[in-house]
Amino acid sequence: MATDLHTLLDRPWDILILGSGAAALSTALSALTSTSPPPSVLLLDKAPPEWAGGNGYFTAAAYRTAHPGLSGLLPIVSNVPSDLEDKIDLAPYTEDDFLGDLERVTGGRSDEKLGKAVVGASWETVKWLKEVGKVDWQLSFRRQAYEVEGRFVFWGGLCLTVPDGGKGLVKGLRERVEHLGGVIVHGVAGRELVTDAKGSVVGVKVEIVGDGERKQVQAGSVVMCAGGFEANRDLRGEWMGEGWKAAHVRGTPHNTGDMLIASRKLGAKLVGDFSGSGCHSTAWDADSPADGGDREKTNEFTKSGYPLGIMVNVKGERFVDEGVDLRNYTYAKFGRAILEQPEGVAWQIWDQQGVAYLRKEEYRDEIVRKVWADSIDELAVKLVKDGLQDSTQLTETVKKFNDCIEAFGKEKPDVQLNPSVRDGLSTQSSTKRLELAKSNWAIPIKQGPFLAVKVTSGVTFTFGGLEIDPEDAIVLNEDGSKIEGLHCAGEMVGGLFYGNYPGGSGLTAGAVFGQRAGRVAAERAART
Ligand SMILES: Cc1cc2nc3c(=O)[nH]c(=O)nc-3n(C[C@H](O)[C@H](O)[C@H](O)COP(=O)(O)OP(=O)(O)OC[C@H]3O[C@@H](n4cnc5c(N)ncnc54)[C@H](O)[C@@H]3O)c2cc1C
Repeated sequence: MATDLHTLLDRPWDILILGSGAAALSTALSALTSTSPPPSVLLLDKAPPEWAGGNGYFTAAAYRTAHPGLSGLLPIVSNVPSDLEDKIDLAPYTEDDFLGDLERVTGGRSDEKLGKAVVGASWETVKWLKEVGKVDWQLSFRRQAYEVEGRFVFWGGLCLTVPDGGKGLVKGLRERVEHLGGVIVHGVAGRELVTDAKGSVVGVKVEIVGDGERKQVQAGSVVMCAGGFEANRDLRGEWMGEGWKAAHVRGTPHNTGDMLIASRKLGAKLVGDFSGSGCHSTAWDADSPADGGDREKTNEFTKSGYPLGIMVNVKGERFVDEGVDLRNYTYAKFGRAILEQPEGVAWQIWDQQGVAYLRKEEYRDEIVRKVWADSIDELAVKLVKDGLQDSTQLTETVKKFNDCIEAFGKEKPDVQLNPSVRDGLSTQSSTKRLELAKSNWAIPIKQGPFLAVKVTSGVTFTFGGLEIDPEDAIVLNEDGSKIEGLHCAGEMVGGLFYGNYPGGSGLTAGAVFGQRAGRVAAERAART
């Protein structure tokens, strides 16, 4: 093996890809299918083989794409038998819808050119992944649809996934890339970018993890898909604020920002949200491991059932409007809200009506520690043993919450619960209102037994990264010029997401820019 490895690292490659997650595999797929004959493609990943797939492995493989609605989706999905077709409500999601969501959740700060590139290419890329990558698309009934009066009603602009989620996604893409001739090597980390006299990137200094040996790998183009810096506690503290050191890492422990730092040394421009709001972070099981995800449970530690309940901090107070928007538009920012609470934890609480909507993946008995009680008083006492500091306040919070919902019900009896749309069922009426509203899905917490689950903040990926030209994913210098021979895709790209994120956009962005980087790098190889 050692000889094989040295042989691989000593020979020149047309394209060297750093990383082997979803963005890297999309890049390789594109590179290997864009020109004839195909270029030679090497993927080097710092992680050992047992951590293959990067964060992609941990995902639900939810891809956000503009699409023409159910009839347009049916030809590309494999899990809709004909007798089910007329029981599905799945409206078109236009490019304007997607762009509007991106702009709305990022507060208008998302780079317009990047956003338009991702949105405009999303549907073509999804079809390309099916055709060229053999991705087996399915409609995400369990995660993205509610059953309403016998119909599956899709909500939140997100409907595609693959069998076995992220595990299935990276396995399938990886097999395809290897079948097409790509070579994937684990346990080799990119450390430094190598340039020629003109400043073009011509290779990478790498380290063989474990023995520390360094070598220089020569390549016609380098595509960096080496993730963000979410798994680097010190860098999180330095770039996003001390508080972020306490967050749990949801995915791979290997995304430590190495290539962001290496690129910066070369003069590449860092852009985007490096502030305290500069990452995707969710409500995450407080009992989960702190420094990296669990390969078995993957994203089952996510706790996104809050829209039908409430969240309280250790003082027994609510701190977000749990119903301000559909889960897909709030889950990526509520991790930060939890982190900002005293002790960085919270409890999600439901009554029986809310419990009925909890998804098994995230809330079944074997996956999460549950605290049950027959009354809110009893629940408050039990939660004190779990870290709650003010049980009286919790009882008071629930009482006021219920009172306001009752008043709303009297004023607007026609407004009914509908979890698949922003239903307007709220705590705010002309007679009674909360200082912190719950704007939708406000059902009272009154039918016992009551359930509480403890959550903390889980960091998913970071938003700040490198500036690229959206057309070819080439990395830009501080002065805006292109660094020839150097591309990047996936989490390493900065400027797309700020403060929040429309669910399912990360994989899509990685595929769009990966496809472009792979194609342009292959064309460069064909020319030279
Ligand atoms: C729990 C969880 C659930 C998610 N769910 C979804 C979802 O359903 N939909 C969605 O769109 N997004 C989701 N995401 C986000 C999604 O994972 C990312 O947007 C996407 O995987 C990023 O792809 P990437 O290739 O850039 O990074 P990754 O897939 O993380 O790959 C980066 C790779 O680079 C390697 N690496 C790091 N440093 C080096 C180095 N110096 N040299 C060589 N290799 C290096 C790492 O080992 C890793 O394998 C989720 C993330 C997590 C953690």
